[in-house]
Amino acid sequence: MRVGVNGAAGRMGRTVCAAVVADPDLELVAAADPGGAGETVEGIEVAGELHSFADAGCDVVVDFTVAAAARDTLPWLALHGMHAVVGTTGFNDDDFALFESSFGGDDGPNAVIAANFAISAVLMMRFAEMAAPHFDTAEIIELHHDRKIDAPSGTAVTTTERIAAARDGNFAVDPTEHEVYPGARGGTGPAGVRVHSVRMRGMVAHQEVIFGATGQTLTIRQDSYDRESFMPGVVLACKQIAAVPGLARSLDPFL
Ligand code: NAD
Repeated sequence: MRVGVNGAAGRMGRTVCAAVVADPDLELVAAADPGGAGETVEGIEVAGELHSFADAGCDVVVDFTVAAAARDTLPWLALHGMHAVVGTTGFNDDDFALFESSFGGDDGPNAVIAANFAISAVLMMRFAEMAAPHFDTAEIIELHHDRKIDAPSGTAVTTTERIAAARDGNFAVDPTEHEVYPGARGGTGPAGVRVHSVRMRGMVAHQEVIFGATGQTLTIRQDSYDRESFMPGVVLACKQIAAVPGLARSLDPFL
């Protein structure tokens, strides 16, 4: 597979470039990032715009950028016949409807947009889904590094949606009548799940899902200590994307 990396000068983009170069079945042929145009990453000059991906004949483009940019990039990739492996977070329902129509054709290209490429996070979401019907209350605490600009994290949003879809009705009514500090009880997601976002220097990406019933709780915790944790999932998706038709919203179909 001939791979391009968008956002190549960013924290994740640089790690992806190194992972692609290290894999014998993948070839890094293009890199783009207006924030790092002219720089060299893993021996490839970073271009300022998307045309470099078409010029290099990419089969797949990996995108770790910002939602505002990816809204334009993804339909452009589909139009130019390139598969997309997307880790960018912060999309809304309208964005997913657009991406669904861009990548919904029978003959591809295909896309995977996964809020979290770490296998431990994929399993954490599955386990949370399994637990959801059996408890009365549920809250999520997600913890990330102090340069993350969206909240809650894409992983927390996806987890909340999957928990809500796995049960009938909302969790127990929240008892809070007054918040001394506004926002102390976090944001309310589907099924009434409260989500709390911590931004902490020194951390990478972490999440706890806490379920409660009378006299018992269950805590499911996942930690990514290093950006390397996302790379096996990204590499796997690059290799398999041609065989997973349409738009996948998680890494599950690839495992
Ligand atoms: P970062 O700020 O270090 O990098 C983002 C890069 O995108 C920057 O270099 C910026 O110049 C570039 N960019 C901005 N606009 C662009 C455009 N129009 N075209 C190309 N590049 C553009 O951020 P990061 O920590 O690398 O995170 C990037 C994204 O990945 C975020 O949305 C983050 O939430 C997400 N993320 C996802 C996972 C996952 O497993 N899915 C894991 C970690 C981070």
